[in-house]
Amino acid sequence: MSYDMNNIFAKIIRGEIPSDKVYEDAHVLAFKDIRPQAKVHVLIIPKGPYISSQDFSEKASDVEIVAFNRAIAKVAKAAGVAVTGYRVIANTGPDGRPEVPHYHVHILGGQNMGRMVS
Ligand code: 5GP
Repeated sequence: MSYDMNNIFAKIIRGEIPSDKVYEDAHVLAFKDIRPQAKVHVLIIPKGPYISSQDFSEKASDVEIVAFNRAIAKVAKAAGVAVTGYRVIANTGPDGRPEVPHYHVHILGGQNMGRMVS
């Protein structure tokens, strides 16, 4: 599977469609999810053309990977959930069933998220 340059997040990176930005640097963009599943729901994406978590981990440079992981903490602070806590999710591959084929993590918080696995 090759990267689709016309996926919705590629268009957001290029500024072709608007987004409610929470954080941006040279390698990373974060914006509010259009259909929030929690009081705080932010998506973090690398600016490079990576399809999935697997693709990103295998192909991105060390600089991109470090920037992306640091951005999670920065976004949590910017979104006001660094102290209260949050959940990070990356839906990956056929079983993970992502909707958008550009790597992203969801940050969900602002409320007690319950236990995923009991
Ligand atoms: P996935 O299911 O791929 O892990 O998550 C994709 C997320 O992108 C969904 O939560 C969905 O609501 C969000 N989304 C889809 N299209 C748009 C859009 O145009 N703008 C924003 N801000 N979020 C979107």
